[in-house]
Amino acid sequence: MSEPELINCLIIGSGPSGFTAAIYAARADMKPVLYQGSQPGGQLMETTEVDNFPGYPEGINGPQMMMDLENQAKRFDTDVRSGWVTKVDFSGEVHKVWVGEGDKALELHAKTVIISTGASAKWLGLESEIRLRDIGGGVSACAVCDGFFYRGQDVVIVGAGDSACEEASYLAKLCNKVTMLVRRDEMRASKAMQHRVNDLENIEVLYNTETLEVLGEEAVEGVKVKNNQTGEETVLTATGFFVAIGHTPNTAIFKDYIELDAQGYIVQTKPGTSITNVEGVFWSGDCADKIYRQAVTAAGSGCMAALDAERYLAAKGEH
Ligand code: NDP
Repeated sequence: MSEPELINCLIIGSGPSGFTAAIYAARADMKPVLYQGSQPGGQLMETTEVDNFPGYPEGINGPQMMMDLENQAKRFDTDVRSGWVTKVDFSGEVHKVWVGEGDKALELHAKTVIISTGASAKWLGLESEIRLRDIGGGVSACAVCDGFFYRGQDVVIVGAGDSACEEASYLAKLCNKVTMLVRRDEMRASKAMQHRVNDLENIEVLYNTETLEVLGEEAVEGVKVKNNQTGEETVLTATGFFVAIGHTPNTAIFKDYIELDAQGYIVQTKPGTSITNVEGVFWSGDCADKIYRQAVTAAGSGCMAALDAERYLAAKGEH
């Protein structure tokens, strides 16, 4: 059997952080190889308009932006490959990574690895929610990205954690009215975040309330909800439906080697850098960021990861 391919800089994931890491690594002559994963382009492929990424004065749609980032990475000869990384072994000097399943998995060796696997927003899983999300009909998991489209309108947000409170407060500045649906009789969010929500007059919190259906054919027209204590069903009028029930970082395959927090996010071992607890392995983007979660912050950390990887190799005299 031939020796596994030895890669200088292996980037796992193809969102804004992965491609930005690739652009920087390629321009530094690190000959990066980027594996795209199961959702090439990452979360932005689920977004319609991106109006907050600097440099696009007219906005751009998410999938187009990802194609632009990919083309930019390829312009500097990033080797972009399809494939799903299923297993890693970060116990040795050289990092081992397997692409594909079972006996057919391809073993690769890498001097540096940049983990850019992102996080996936959780959805309620209602047919109406997913259908309207997929046609860009007013269902979103990111208030900062999409709130602007609902200026002066009435919106509903589901969730009771810090994210939901933060997003509800953000929406309250733009929208006429925000109705927050909390499934229990209390919120999970910190007291400070709850105060922020309660202090805003145009946020109404409905406790013990669950979503039954998002109404509307082409676009959100309302939300049918049920009080799980009384059984009473009500229809709320709204043009936007926001889901803020948490994210799942895509880090499960790294758990035996990389330090993760209780929710599975990669621990930022040395704040202000992309260094992880394993030498030569770096993080970028939402797999380690549960606070900001923006395309631009993900891109920024992709740049950091490539620079950190380059400096790591240079310090070892290998670049
Ligand atoms: P969390 O997991 O903290 O909260 C998720 C919320 O969604 C919970 O209130 C949960 O309800 C609710 N939920 C889950 N599933 C459903 C469902 N099917 N229907 C209705 N509600 C549902 O996620 P967050 O994204 O809010 O936060 C993740 C982490 O990031 C936390 O540690 C948080 O503190 C941190 N964070 C910090 C911020 C800050 O400091 N500024 C900002 C944002 C996040 P229930 O409570 O009933 O389980």
